[in-house]
Amino acid sequence: MDCRAAAFALTQIATLLELHNEDPFTVRGMQAAARAVAARGDESLPLALAGVLGPDDALLPAARAVLQELIDTNSASLLERLQEETPEGLLEMLRVPGLGPARIRAIHDGLHVDTLQELEDAARDGRLAALPKFGAKTAERVLNGLADLRATGAYVLWQHAHAEAVRFAAAVRAHRDVLQVETAGSIRRRMEVVRDVDLVVAVRGAPSVVAGALAQLPGVRDVLGGGGRSLALRLDNGVRVDVACVRPEQFALALWRATGSTAHVQQIIARAAEQGLALAGDELRDRDGALVAIPDEAALYARLGLAYITPEQREAAGEIEAAAQGPFAPLITEAALVGALHCHSQYSDGGATIADMAEAAQARGLRYLGVSDHSQSNTYAGGLSRDAIVQQHTEIDALNAGYVARGVDFRVLKGIEADILPCGRVDYDAAFLDRFDFVIGSVHTRYGMNERQMTDRVLKALDDPHLTVLGHPTGRLLLTREPYAIDMRAIMEKAARVGVAIELNADPHRLDIDWRACRVAQELGTLVSIGPDAHSPQGLEHLAQGVAIARKGWLTAANVLNTRSASEVLAFARARRTGAAGAEETPPAPRLRIVQG
Ligand SMILES: [Zn+2]
Ligand SMILES: [Zn+2]
Repeated sequence: MDCRAAAFALTQIATLLELHNEDPFTVRGMQAAARAVAARGDESLPLALAGVLGPDDALLPAARAVLQELIDTNSASLLERLQEETPEGLLEMLRVPGLGPARIRAIHDGLHVDTLQELEDAARDGRLAALPKFGAKTAERVLNGLADLRATGAYVLWQHAHAEAVRFAAAVRAHRDVLQVETAGSIRRRMEVVRDVDLVVAVRGAPSVVAGALAQLPGVRDVLGGGGRSLALRLDNGVRVDVACVRPEQFALALWRATGSTAHVQQIIARAAEQGLALAGDELRDRDGALVAIPDEAALYARLGLAYITPEQREAAGEIEAAAQGPFAPLITEAALVGALHCHSQYSDGGATIADMAEAAQARGLRYLGVSDHSQSNTYAGGLSRDAIVQQHTEIDALNAGYVARGVDFRVLKGIEADILPCGRVDYDAAFLDRFDFVIGSVHTRYGMNERQMTDRVLKALDDPHLTVLGHPTGRLLLTREPYAIDMRAIMEKAARVGVAIELNADPHRLDIDWRACRVAQELGTLVSIGPDAHSPQGLEHLAQGVAIARKGWLTAANVLNTRSASEVLAFARARRTGAAGAEETPPAPRLRIVQG
């Protein structure tokens, strides 16, 4: 049993406990344990439990018992019991994108809906929309989710699909007639959730012959379709893989087409047609029917008079019109990040010491680490009392003094992830908040508020001059919990005005704000902070996915707070407290830089 599988079991337990309306403390404890275990990746569970998840961490005893049972018996009786007690239809409903356990419980209790079919009926005849806190939009989302679920099977998080793609691509690459393999589709476009794996394979000899051979690879359970040079496979673990085998000279166009999105590809084909070019199959032909060589994707865009469009941007969301005007401003890269502001330590629900977190940050090339443990109101996640904060700050001062003494260019910043209370107040009082270098304000409770209430709550929090960053602004958990109702445009407008950054929480389960909202933030001049929300040193790896999502939202380094130095971040935080914000902290951030020649 590896940690990934154990984390999955804990997550399922947490979800089902929530579905059964069990006490939130246990639910969150299971979730925290799942995060802690997931952070250990492929490591064996006994090793992890004996090591980093050792006796003096904050693991919920019930979660520890589950892990021990997994080690001893490879099963979890609590999970089995919960699954036993849950109608299958409700388990299925958990797989509907955008429908979390709380809503499923509300649907079940309010409408006695037990199956997907009944859910669909209720969504269509208005009963779902009439439920408290639901509404027409939610009903529509449920219908869309159902359609997706039926058509193509369930979504998984990007990282899981990517891991499957890497694994299967390695097996394909080992075949003697395979020259090159690339992952395409929504994985390459860095969609936050993914339904299947797309591979494009350049082969020696006849593509259909190699395709036939690949269908025989170990790990392939079924051939679902295809024929000729394309294959639709189902792997033993249920993952669906689409494989396109092509000759080397067709590879670039085949990769481009398989990357999508479908709408982007259609728009490009239409543009080609306007220019007298025919883009069909994996070939581009000119007016005279002569083949146009396309050695790489950039050549395709160039031939159509367009700047190169990165895979992340290919969503038919205005990128073609923009590329027709000239090159994009360079998108942010991970190398541009100078520090990270959203990290937890053992003081609250993190798994490591501040020193260990700082060391991991340095190893990633970062120059500062913002420690932001939970605040006092957040009892389930070990929120910090004032005394604990004072102690933590003494420890940080000592660490920083050590860096100075050793001439190390690194600094730990004193932060807090303060709860935004239901009334809109930021946890602690003004005098105490003054002690922190920066403050992240997050909503962790009362997700069920309506849009007006939630928007007012967060707008009020933005008035607090101590607030530096608004944490995970919509509260969504991908595939598990939908975003709470909130007017993000109003929030981002105000944030830009008062000089607060909006977080792009890079936890792969959150990726919050959504990449679509990044475009809006850029438009409004709202600064974005890419926060790993790391609960362990491994959690800093989330930054890579945060950057990918930022790129998908067209963000440049100038749009992102933590591309700035520690002293600039401190100045940004201080500017608010002295009332100087607004004027200097709204960079115009043009979407395009027109460069010619
Ligand atoms: Zn949080
Ligand atoms: Zn956090």
